Amino acid sequence: MSAERSTRIPLCAPRLDGNEARYLAECVESGWVSSAGPFVERLEAALAGLVGVPEAVATSSGTAALHLALCVAGVEAGDEVLVPALSFVAPANAVRYVGALPVFLDAEPTHAQLDPAALARFLEERCVRSRCGLRNRETGRRVAALIAVHVLGHPVDLDAILELARGAGLVLIEDAAEALGAHYRGAPIGSFGDLACFSFNGNKTVTAGGGGMLVAADPEQARRARHLSTQAKRDPVEFVHDAVGFNYRLSNLQAAVGCAQLERIDELLADKRRVARGYARALADVPGIVAFREADWARSSHWLTGVRVVEERFGMPSRGLLAWLDARGIETRPLWQPLHRSPAHAGSSGPPCPVAERLARETLCLPSSCGLAASELEYVAGAIRAASRVLAA
Ligand SMILES: *Cc1c(COP(=O)(O)O)cnc(C)c1O
Repeated sequence: MSAERSTRIPLCAPRLDGNEARYLAECVESGWVSSAGPFVERLEAALAGLVGVPEAVATSSGTAALHLALCVAGVEAGDEVLVPALSFVAPANAVRYVGALPVFLDAEPTHAQLDPAALARFLEERCVRSRCGLRNRETGRRVAALIAVHVLGHPVDLDAILELARGAGLVLIEDAAEALGAHYRGAPIGSFGDLACFSFNGNKTVTAGGGGMLVAADPEQARRARHLSTQAKRDPVEFVHDAVGFNYRLSNLQAAVGCAQLERIDELLADKRRVARGYARALADVPGIVAFREADWARSSHWLTGVRVVEERFGMPSRGLLAWLDARGIETRPLWQPLHRSPAHAGSSGPPCPVAERLARETLCLPSSCGLAASELEYVAGAIRAASRVLAA
C-alpha cells in the first residue's frame, strides 16, 4: 500500500468550480433570492430539455417531488404503493405522507435493481383485478402505483417493468434521484414513467445544495403539481387557496447553483464513468470483490460505485472492510437497511426480500466524487488489495 495520506477521501463531494459562485452573486445583486426568479425557470427548462419532456417543476427536494407525484397520480389514503426493498427511504416515506402504505419488493442480484420477476410474482400471486382497479388479495387494499427507483444511477429494466405496470393498470413513478443523465436503450431516464422525480441534494451528481424536480408525461399533472407546490394559491391578491397545498418551491439561490452544475453535466457524468471503470479495472482480480455490471441496455449515471464484498471469498464482511478503509482515511458506506426491515415502516406487508437483504449486507459504496484523482482511486484500490492480501496470508 502507498504512503499514509494526510486528508480523508470522502464518499462523494460536489465539484463547484464552474459558474456556481458567479450565478450566486447574480442572485444577490439582483435581489432574486427566493422562490421566483430567472434561475428557477432556467433550471426547469434545462432539465426538461435534458430528459426530453415538455415541462419540469422545480421543488425544494427530491422527497417533495415524490410527495407531489403521489398526490397528482391520485394515490389515496389506504392505497398500497409498490416500492423496492433496496432503496433509500425517501420513496417509502412519501407513500406514507399521503396516507398510503408501501409494499416492498425484492431486487435482482446483478444490477441491484427492482426485480421484474418479483413484481410479476406479486401481481400474479397476491393481486386480483376488480372493478375499481387492482387489489391486494390479502389486505383487500387497492394497489395504486409503483415507484421504480434507479438504484445508484443504474436503470431498472424498464421494458419488463412498464409492461407489467401497464398490464396491471398501475401508475409508474420513476425515482430518478440517483439517475439524472442515465439512459435506457438510448432514451433518457425520467422519460418513461407517468411521473419522474430527481434530486439536487448535496451528494447527488448534479447538486443545487438541496432541491428536486418533478416531470410529468401529462402537462395537466405538471400544472397541478406546480399549483400544489405553491400552497395551491388560486388568487395571489386575495390569497384564495383551493386545496391544502405545500411550500415546496425551490429558491433562486439553489437554482443558480443547479444551473451552473447542469451546464457541465456531460463532464460530471464522464467523471463518474471514469471512476466506475477505474474501480472495475483496479479490483477485477481481487477475490470476493464483485463490481456491479452495467447491463447492455443501460447507460448508468454511476452516481456511486458500489461493490459486493462476498465474505466467503474475500475473508471479511463488508463492514469489516469499511472499518479497515476508515482507518486508512477512506470513507465508504453500505447501501441502506432494506426497507421491509426499517423500524420506520414496521408492519408493512409484502413478500420476503432475500436478495435485497444479501445486497444490503454485502455492498459497500466506494469514494465516487467527480473530482476523485487517479492517485486517490489507486490508493483506495490499493487499500482493498492490501486487506485481501492480509486475509489470504
Ligand atoms: C436522494 C434520494 C431521494 C431524495 O432526494 P432529496 O432531495 O434528498 O429529498 C429520493 N430517492 C432516492 C433514491 C435518493 O437517492
